[in-house]
Amino acid sequence: MQIEIVPCLADNYAYLVKSGDQCAVVDPSEAAPVKAALDRLGWRPAFILNTHHHIDHVGGNLELKALYGAEIVGPGKDTGRIPGIDTGVDEHSGWEFAGHEVRILEVPGHTRGAITFVIEGHAFTGDTLFALGCGRMFEGDAPMMWNSLSKLAALPDATKIYCGHEYTESNGRFALTIEPGNAALKARMIEVKAARAKGQPTIPSTIGLEKQTNPFLRPESAEIRKGLGLENASDTAVFGEVRRRKDNF
Ligand SMILES: [Zn+2]
Ligand SMILES: [Zn+2]
Repeated sequence: MQIEIVPCLADNYAYLVKSGDQCAVVDPSEAAPVKAALDRLGWRPAFILNTHHHIDHVGGNLELKALYGAEIVGPGKDTGRIPGIDTGVDEHSGWEFAGHEVRILEVPGHTRGAITFVIEGHAFTGDTLFALGCGRMFEGDAPMMWNSLSKLAALPDATKIYCGHEYTESNGRFALTIEPGNAALKARMIEVKAARAKGQPTIPSTIGLEKQTNPFLRPESAEIRKGLGLENASDTAVFGEVRRRKDNF
């Protein structure tokens, strides 16, 4: 499987996924850069996949559908908010792409209908899990979001994470305020800064790396708990406090 990263808008990423003669576009924020990348590669998408309804993830849907006749696949619980959607999917329906069984994880919190597509060890997480961060809880609360992130954390460590935005460096600056003694986080930030200085994406990450360095997946960390004064709190409460601090960072 080949995956191409397509920078869109200010800091969004769309992705082109190719397997055999099948191609899918994930979260086209806008049509022009996606079309340019497809032209360069000589690929024609049969599918457009949306992780959630926000305009910076579906903005290119209608134009690309008109250009390529692509089928739009998105959250079954949010079909009313996805422009041009043809097929709603959920955890029970799953999906299939180029002969690959695609796992759909329902991950509400950032939006009620948010989903993650897992295709052969590649997880497209939209704005639910970011490299070193997680999405804001626009349509959910801490227990809902923690439950969703826990589903992603349960994926195999080698699972590659393709998220919706290049937020890694600023996420990392926040993460260092929450867990300044995390050696893996400090080492990762050196690599992140070097990549960004060269204008390179910090994507993909892996679930294993996120579990070591992403403060939103680390409510069990003694350092984080001590720093927040929440030594004996539930994981959900620790997660909620980290999220609250990020909102005010
Ligand atoms: Zn969003
Ligand atoms: Zn977004």
